[in-house]
Amino acid sequence: MTKGIAVKTRIGDLIQGGSVAVVVGGLVVGAVSTSQGATLATGEPADAPVAQEPVNPPTLEPDVMAEAAQKAKQIEVQRAKRARERAQRSSGDMFTPTRNYRNTAVFGQAGGSWSSGHHTGLDFATATGTPVFSALAGKVVEAGWGGAYGNHIIVRHDNGVETLYAHLNSIAVAKGEKVLRGQRIGAVGSTGNSSGPHLHFEVIKNDVQRDPAAFL
Ligand SMILES: [Zn+2]
Repeated sequence: MTKGIAVKTRIGDLIQGGSVAVVVGGLVVGAVSTSQGATLATGEPADAPVAQEPVNPPTLEPDVMAEAAQKAKQIEVQRAKRARERAQRSSGDMFTPTRNYRNTAVFGQAGGSWSSGHHTGLDFATATGTPVFSALAGKVVEAGWGGAYGNHIIVRHDNGVETLYAHLNSIAVAKGEKVLRGQRIGAVGSTGNSSGPHLHFEVIKNDVQRDPAAFL
């Protein structure tokens, strides 16, 4: 970049590094490189070598700005991508938590076998030992015995939604562990208040159980 040289007299009266600011009527209107100016200022012969400091022409500045703008755009694109991924992980795009199942009890179903009088999740009847998968990426906040839930796991996801997996035969994760969407976290069983091997699956949002079917 041209060093700021205030030339109040005439063009070429003062030089610095081969550059001179052109001042007309007190206004800086531009900058020129001149070896002629050097000659005028030093009084050396016209063909004498002039010290050539590298002069970055002002045209480089837009390049730097373009580069910065491009970098900012890349960061913005990355940020948008991460936000999309977060939204995907935390919204309704859940991984089916087990396989080879039959849904045997739906959310809200009335029944005397449930302490609340109605069913608080969705039941997936399948063979003991069938893998149980985390519906979304998140962090294990409970893993262990849960009374009527038997062996159970609760995973908290990015937006605060939690998923609960109950009556497990075995648990493959520990409290505090981070899990991925679709990661095997345990196996189906019939522990706790259960009449046969099945996964009892809950979705909890703002401390309220929601219909898992709306998220799957
Ligand atoms: Zn159930």
